[in-house]
Amino acid sequence: MTVPHYRRILVKLSGEALLGESDYGICPTTLTRIADELAEVNTLGVEVAVVIGGGNIFRGAGLAAAGMDRITADHMGMLATVMNALALQDALERRGVFSRVMSAIKINQVCEDYIRRRAVRHLEKGRVVIFAAGTGNPFFTTDSAASLRAVEIGAELLLKGTKVDGVYTSDPVNDPSARRYERLTYDDVLSQKLEVMDATAIVLCRDQGMRIMVFDMTRAGNVVQAAQGASVGTVVDP
Ligand code: UDP
Repeated sequence: MTVPHYRRILVKLSGEALLGESDYGICPTTLTRIADELAEVNTLGVEVAVVIGGGNIFRGAGLAAAGMDRITADHMGMLATVMNALALQDALERRGVFSRVMSAIKINQVCEDYIRRRAVRHLEKGRVVIFAAGTGNPFFTTDSAASLRAVEIGAELLLKGTKVDGVYTSDPVNDPSARRYERLTYDDVLSQKLEVMDATAIVLCRDQGMRIMVFDMTRAGNVVQAAQGASVGTVVDP
């Protein structure tokens, strides 16, 4: 049996990753594909944690722009991530993969509270741990939560899912001359304001030496390949 390259990884999925062809909510086919892929990584013996966003349901900044109090709006955004996390847990467990949702906001009739040592124990037991409710604080994003949790649980790689296969010099959707970066430093990302993750997330990864790989989440097989050590996107490291 091949030995997996990584022992423990954290996958950041935006809420958009669950949209499929829809504009809102969760596409069952897309959810199934993602769960299949995470299940395969789990079968390889790689410990998998997931941070899931909520942008397919609510984003705090969008609600605030429409007149809502920003903190209330961010609470709604964080609750949206809990819904996505529950959907993913359900999809994983239908495949026979044990998983736990751990929320940064106490909502413990629905899921567990986030407790670092407990999260690590679940991972050691081969359960997929889905971190919900971001950091638990308004004005942050689930990208920041992903970098924070990745560092806290001692992940060796933060896999940041997007709709393209890495980081480009400009938006490849609008600019055919856009070039993809193979590798970047954290400071390249910050100084060139490259759209990888928000600056708070990048700074934490930089300060703690957390390797990031930005990859195309819409393409099946990428997470499995990355978990086995392949480069499936742009790597950001020291
Ligand atoms: N959010 C928050 N604090 C956090 C993480 C998320 O307040 O630590 C709220 C915020 O309103 C955000 C929403 O939850 O817009 C959904 O998260 P995010 O926008 O990061 O989701 P994604 O873009 O990854 O789908």
